[in-house]
Amino acid sequence: MQIVIVGGGAGGLELATKLGKKLGRKGKAEVVLIDRNHTHVWKPLLHEVASGSLDADLDAVTYRAHGHKHGFEFELGTLNGIDRERKVVQLSALLDEDGREVLPARERPYDTLVLAIGSVSNDFNVSGVGEHCIFLDSPVQAHRFHRRLVDGFIRLNQALKSGDSVHKLRVAIIGGGATGVELSAELYKAREWFSTYGLTAITPQHLDVTLVEAGPRLLPALSERISSGAREELEKLGVRVMVNTAVVSAGPEGLQTKGGEAIAADLMVWAAGVKAPDFLRDIEGLETNRANQLVVEPTLQVKGDGAIYALGDCAGCPMTRPDGSEGWVPPRAQSAHQMASAVAHNILASARGKPLQPFRYKDLGSLVSLSEYTAFGRLMGGLARGGINLEGKIARLAYVSLYRMHLAAIHGWPRALLLALTEKINHFVRPRFKLH
Ligand SMILES: Cc1cc2nc3c(=O)[nH]c(=O)nc-3n(C[C@H](O)[C@H](O)[C@H](O)COP(=O)(O)OP(=O)(O)OC[C@H]3O[C@@H](n4cnc5c(N)ncnc54)[C@H](O)[C@@H]3O)c2cc1C
Repeated sequence: MQIVIVGGGAGGLELATKLGKKLGRKGKAEVVLIDRNHTHVWKPLLHEVASGSLDADLDAVTYRAHGHKHGFEFELGTLNGIDRERKVVQLSALLDEDGREVLPARERPYDTLVLAIGSVSNDFNVSGVGEHCIFLDSPVQAHRFHRRLVDGFIRLNQALKSGDSVHKLRVAIIGGGATGVELSAELYKAREWFSTYGLTAITPQHLDVTLVEAGPRLLPALSERISSGAREELEKLGVRVMVNTAVVSAGPEGLQTKGGEAIAADLMVWAAGVKAPDFLRDIEGLETNRANQLVVEPTLQVKGDGAIYALGDCAGCPMTRPDGSEGWVPPRAQSAHQMASAVAHNILASARGKPLQPFRYKDLGSLVSLSEYTAFGRLMGGLARGGINLEGKIARLAYVSLYRMHLAAIHGWPRALLLALTEKINHFVRPRFKLH
């Protein structure tokens, strides 16, 4: 039996690891993970890669080595289509930097297929966004932002040293959700580290971050209390928060708002919502929703094809919200994690001829970290059945432990703890921030 998983992200890599250990290693099935990248970086950390507080080169998991250890095969490739009748996935040709072919366009057969290819930023067709804004959809994009940030700080330091006192680095972030809020705080931390490491002319006044949100408040998915607490902390750092402000266009000099205001910016990040990749829309006659997500049955098999599962951000999984309204399971790391466990369970049940279980999403709460300054959140489940609010160091600890839990899901606890120790050692032996 060939089980092909496309996408080694928050959900896909956990699933490949589980199935590799349970089936691949024992020779009960061939488990194949396909990803367009060689390495995995947990997506909720991309804003830290963008600011430099995380060095993805040190933290990334190499798929090929991980697969070797955990009983699955890794294939480098970008999915561009499926042939459901012939049960094959279609992968694009892979070219090197000089345009020479590394791998030809090819197909890979499957008996069971799992689509876990995540999401991309939704620019809602706002003019100029694709050309002038950076998205944080992938490590490559986060690195691109980081390089521009480094160049921006170096340029600014030089200008200030030459007596240009009006010069500032202006960053505009569109989208007041978790990504926008967390990135805003990270930029102030980056400024501190760059000053510590020699760019001494740059003071807090020389960084100008504007966070633009179309809705009435930041962090609309979280409570009013958390939202106003986060806004207060950001404003203390120096962030200019603009709510009820819709951006209508982006250009080389900055943004234009619906109210006619121009926001000048040297760097712009678009973090105003996600959708599944466009090529999934109605792929091979499969049903998709408005966000291009593949609509799934309660078992997480896509509607109309029991051989294909979808999980994570690319899956449209209907759910009834606590207030009784109908909606979709939110595109979050905890959803991808829970779905990966449910799909693993169902694939194993199906291999053993047992009935499949319906997936039930459990909201375990949300945490937002303002870099090392503070964190906010609400945890549900376990002892906190009705939910408890967290703030400050405890919230930050809970936030960091989410990543530890992802590492434990893919490496096991002993190795995850060793990695945590390595990180601590790295804080002593390496620069605290990625400076290049
Ligand atoms: C900056 C940022 C901060 C976030 N913070 C949080 C948070 O605090 N809490 C939270 O719950 N969620 C957070 N999220 C959302 C969370 O990261 C996603 O919901 C989660 O990663 C989805 O998991 P996934 O497995 O569906 O997809 P992903 O983790 O995105 O993985 C998709 C994988 O598919 C691969 N892929 C994509 N297209 C193709 C293709 N065509 N062919 C082959 N491979 C492909 C990608 O390379 C990637 O490895 C954040 C997201 C961002 C961007």
